[in-house]
Amino acid sequence: MQEDFKKEALANDQNDPLKDQRQNFHIPFVNGKESIYFCGNSLGLQPKSARPETEKVFSNWQKLAVEGHFEGKDPWIDYHKRFKKPLAAIVGAKESEVVAMNNLTVNLHLGLVSFYRPSDKKHKIMMEGHAFPSDQYAVESQVSFHGYNPDNAIIELMPSKNEELLKTEDILQKLSDHADETALLLLGGLQYYTGQLFELEKICLFAKEKGIRVGLDLAHAAGNVPLQLHNWDIDFAVWCSYKYLNSGPGAVSGMFIHEKHHKDLTIPRFAGWWGHDEQERFLMKKGFSPIKSADGWQLSNGSILNMASHFASLQIFDAVGMAAIRKKSMAMTAYLEKLMKTFDFIKIITPKDPHQRGSQLSLYFEKNGKEIFRHIQDQGVIADWREPNVIRIAPAPLYNTFEEIFNFYYIIKSYNAK
Ligand SMILES: *Cc1c(COP(=O)(O)O)cnc(C)c1O
Repeated sequence: MQEDFKKEALANDQNDPLKDQRQNFHIPFVNGKESIYFCGNSLGLQPKSARPETEKVFSNWQKLAVEGHFEGKDPWIDYHKRFKKPLAAIVGAKESEVVAMNNLTVNLHLGLVSFYRPSDKKHKIMMEGHAFPSDQYAVESQVSFHGYNPDNAIIELMPSKNEELLKTEDILQKLSDHADETALLLLGGLQYYTGQLFELEKICLFAKEKGIRVGLDLAHAAGNVPLQLHNWDIDFAVWCSYKYLNSGPGAVSGMFIHEKHHKDLTIPRFAGWWGHDEQERFLMKKGFSPIKSADGWQLSNGSILNMASHFASLQIFDAVGMAAIRKKSMAMTAYLEKLMKTFDFIKIITPKDPHQRGSQLSLYFEKNGKEIFRHIQDQGVIADWREPNVIRIAPAPLYNTFEEIFNFYYIIKSYNAK
């Protein structure tokens, strides 16, 4: 069986249309050899093009200084516009609906300021009970800011007893039951802990039908799974670029605002000069008049040095396309699943349905989880440990190989044989 698994891996790598992409990335070394890096859901690997792209900015700053805002090949004043085409393709949006700015939690707050519009009757926010902590804190503080008590203004979506995953029908039921009092549904597109990809189209369109606004946190979904934010009628979405989008630690975040909101000046927002009408930006006059696109939510001039690596990385996405990435991701995840199922002490908590997961499997170890984690680390696997007993494995289609998955399997097997 093991021999067959290995043969399958080698054949898949041989026939992989993305096999040349790996050489565009720096693979970290452990103990003098290339690591098996399965942590792209936490921090994606560095594209080799990131440093030269950043150096162009250093060079313009060195040679042009302040003139770099308007001169040189890629003037900083319009630098954020370079992201529109690739980001629109990644999240399924029109170019006017996406903007790269700030960091994820900042953008989440900006989205909540505009689209969480509570009235006394309808002031609740529905979200995952096990949402990422930053999202929980952001929502708690927004609810309090509006004078409500988070303990009853937040409706938590919880899995049924003894289950890890949220069922779509339970989410729809809860939306239905609380439609009159719920102002906003905030959902992580892909659950960071379980790896569950929510049935977003179904859930979001249902919420909209019920008169509930929808915001998405796509930290683990952007660059990982196909998205259609415009067609799904999402009001706003945010994501970070340092996970699957490989743009470097704390790199610039992205935001989507549906085009139907662009011209609506009754929507409250926190404004800054970079969101002001471009023709008048430097007139320094009073009275905020927003750009009529997602750009109108910008606050500050861009953090160009940090944006350069984002640009380098997005060029790879633009060249390869999400369809090819998704295809390989599904094949890799299925292969990983098949190998992990041979271990009776591992329970996979991520959904079995390939359409309800991305490229991550969360492995629950019935015993010796921590010890096995140390063992795989010693053997050069970089992965992610979550209490109480879970290892998250995220093979990234742009730089991981099937053979690495086989080697990972072999490393666990060698622990078990000890
Ligand atoms: C990674 C992650 C964040 C991180 O927020 P930052 O503002 O980028 O630090 C937030 N939410 C989710 C769901 C995440 O997975």
